[in-house]
Amino acid sequence: MLNQDKINELRQQVIPPQQLFINGQCQPASSGATIDIISPIDGQLITTAADAGVEDVDQAVAAARNVFDQGSWSKAAPAERKRVMHKIADLIQQHALELAVLGVRDNGTEIGMAIKAEPGSASATFRFYAESVDKVYGDIAPTDPSVLGLIHREPVGVVAAIVPWNFPLMIAAWKIAPAIAMGNSVVLKPSETASLSLLKLAEICSEAGLPDGVLNVITGQGAVSGEALGLHNDVDVIVFTGSGTIGRKLLEYSARSNLKRVYLELGGKSPNIVFADAEDLKKAARVSAMGIFRDSGQVCVAGSRLLVQQSIKDEFIDHLQAVAEKLVVGDPLELSNEVGAINNARQLKQNLGFVDTAISEGARLVTGGTQILKESGGYFMSPTIFGDVTPNMTLAREEVFGPVLGVMSFEDEAEAIHMANDTNYGLAAAVWTGNLSRAHRMIRAVKAGVVHVNTYGGPDVTVPLGGVKQSGNGVDKSLHALDKYTDFKTAWIQL
Ligand code: NAD
Repeated sequence: MLNQDKINELRQQVIPPQQLFINGQCQPASSGATIDIISPIDGQLITTAADAGVEDVDQAVAAARNVFDQGSWSKAAPAERKRVMHKIADLIQQHALELAVLGVRDNGTEIGMAIKAEPGSASATFRFYAESVDKVYGDIAPTDPSVLGLIHREPVGVVAAIVPWNFPLMIAAWKIAPAIAMGNSVVLKPSETASLSLLKLAEICSEAGLPDGVLNVITGQGAVSGEALGLHNDVDVIVFTGSGTIGRKLLEYSARSNLKRVYLELGGKSPNIVFADAEDLKKAARVSAMGIFRDSGQVCVAGSRLLVQQSIKDEFIDHLQAVAEKLVVGDPLELSNEVGAINNARQLKQNLGFVDTAISEGARLVTGGTQILKESGGYFMSPTIFGDVTPNMTLAREEVFGPVLGVMSFEDEAEAIHMANDTNYGLAAAVWTGNLSRAHRMIRAVKAGVVHVNTYGGPDVTVPLGGVKQSGNGVDKSLHALDKYTDFKTAWIQL
């Protein structure tokens, strides 16, 4: 049970300057440089973090490579890797509230959501992949009897994981857990604006018995240390979650260096499609609203394009507006608030810019569209709905990554499919209908990594998450994610 007094106590804790975590040790950047960590709750300085340079990245990659080659983790018995990973999951659970509050202090997600999505799913993810360690087998190929074809899975080596500011713990766990389960070493690069909970995670992993060097954390500017990781000739794989702009750079870095594999989880403009035959329009509106407004829309799978059948459009927008206007936005560390802060001032400004553009392009502002709670010094925005959005408007085409919903209407199923797929992205989608056949037709027709039916959000670690089209390649979560962290090696034996 979440306790406001305990949260208040944790939020008062003074956080010392944060250092890099390399080879099991905390150390400053070799240049001594730091970046400021600003609270999105009040715009005040929380602490500083080391601003890693190329030399620090070299050290972290060398530590990861050395321990990999030396084999204390990469060649450890599966039972040992499994034991340590369960211990990590236990410690995440033990420190759940501390991790969640730390995370909220620099990323701004509402605490009720953060506790479930951050330590909650991170510990579940470590457990899931702990169990994979001694349950994923190699294969024997169905060859001619005169030969034996064996297929081994081997760890790839050094994995660089670069993650965004939203749900940092959950997304980092989706990458670290399968990587280390398979025996790899990791250099983790958190976002400039959300690193506190990840440095704590590194400590937890060390306490659980993960050998030094298997997980290293490099904080600081992406344009410096992220680029250095991308160009590094001793990094074997990059796993990235973030924007398409940086995703493109990573592909370029790979081409300019050692052709390291690059797996990208990028943004979306996900269609949430409501048919007139949906069973409970009020419920659909409530869930759809949270599908865009939770974490202030800073969710890659946010249902930011609402496609609603013309005959129920007005009624549905009324329901949505009622939900949006009741949502309590405010200090994310107050349990009574339902929506927290925008992560940083630049993102808030960008969101408000999208509002101006939508208005100038002729969309109808139904509700919201403004910065609120300015007196707090923090970055808050009212849940925003635009009606009369048309497919060519910027709001229908570009990812906002904020609490801004654009509503469009369609006449029939064919038009809904056409509109849903009329995007460069393909991350998530949802269909609301009481007609089972229609639901299955839509699942097949909509191009997206996940299609929800009569709900929005919630898939757990057992199922893959990945994008198609410009939303990325490869998947996080599920046993399928293990393919990113293993090489297949064939043994062909003449009998
Ligand atoms: P971002 O792309 O700006 O930053 C992501 C990471 O890249 C950060 O750690 C940053 O420091 C680093 N980086 C910045 N410049 C770099 C460079 N030149 N080289 C290497 N690394 C660099 O993304 P963000 O603003 O932190 O996050 C928001 C974006 O992430 C949105 O587009 C959102 O849709 C996407 N996202 C996608 C998923 C998914 O699973 N598909 C999940 C969450 C967020």
